[in-house]
Amino acid sequence: MRKRILVLFVLALLLITGCTGNVSTEPRDVDNGSELENPIEEEPGDEIEDEKIDFEAIRPNEAGQIMVLMYHQIGPEEKEWIRTPDNFRKDLQVLYDNGYRLVSLKDVLKGNISVEAGYTPVVITFDDGTEGQFRYIKENGQWIIDPDSAVGILLEMNDKNPGFGTAATFYVNTNPFRQPEFTQRKLEELIEFGMDIGNHTYTHPNLARDVKSKEEMQRQLGMLVKEIQSYLPDYELDSLALPFGGVPPKELFPYAVEGEHEGTPYHNLGILLVGSHPSHSPFSKDFDPHKIPRIRGEDPMEYGYIYYWMEYFERNPHLRYISDGNPNYITVPEDQLDKIDTEAFQGKTIRTY
Ligand SMILES: [Zn+2]
Repeated sequence: MRKRILVLFVLALLLITGCTGNVSTEPRDVDNGSELENPIEEEPGDEIEDEKIDFEAIRPNEAGQIMVLMYHQIGPEEKEWIRTPDNFRKDLQVLYDNGYRLVSLKDVLKGNISVEAGYTPVVITFDDGTEGQFRYIKENGQWIIDPDSAVGILLEMNDKNPGFGTAATFYVNTNPFRQPEFTQRKLEELIEFGMDIGNHTYTHPNLARDVKSKEEMQRQLGMLVKEIQSYLPDYELDSLALPFGGVPPKELFPYAVEGEHEGTPYHNLGILLVGSHPSHSPFSKDFDPHKIPRIRGEDPMEYGYIYYWMEYFERNPHLRYISDGNPNYITVPEDQLDKIDTEAFQGKTIRTY
């Protein structure tokens, strides 16, 4: 265990310090020398040394955009809302081969993106908690994770592709994954595997249309949290995927973010839309955690949206999030500095090159 001092970034002081306009790999630590020092104790193993990375070769850009992928069912036939196991494997392999690494939405929302320098984070989400996402099957008298279910495939692809990761968030309704005798085991295993559970409401109503009171909004969100916490008492669900993409009307929206139902409180740091393009970096001024766009994973066309956006980033590399390898720093090219929201993640150091 060792202590590290992180210095809070202060916009005013940066402005006073000014930008030289020269290439500089010096961290833009701004030390006001007083109460803003923020000692953080790190557990052994959590620590990522700030290796001397070659900024010009790697060109980290943590103001760049991130894809949040949205899948629904994993099933035998490719059609709207269904991706086949083999197409899902292919998606993951192509992402890996093109320098993408899986990160949890929880970590994106908290600005703790731990991806090796030079790689791009990508978030995977699943809606509806269907059985094909996480299924147990009996083989030779033993219950095993169906290797063709999403969880089985994510584990397999991480085994085959070192450093890929297993992060994915499953937005579930009541009776997640539809094998009630396995719910306890599945939810515990998801967390063990580095995956997450998110709120998709209790019974999947359209929140734009079918929920008409703050009581019903809080019931829909609180009941689901209560059900998950009956299996995982300490687990925090901190994001919501809107069923059908239905955005609650203005007067009810605050209750989609935060509320309480019969003693069960909830707080959604992130709210996910349905469709259609990459998300801004969480460090960007343009990032709105309550309106996170997603890209559809399944596609009736063989060659779908994910591939379109991967090509888009090939053509526009300056728009792609490239990690600096150290979650304590936010690194951007000098000309991207004005995109960074300096208020959002206190405790991180912003640096440019
Ligand atoms: Zn849904």
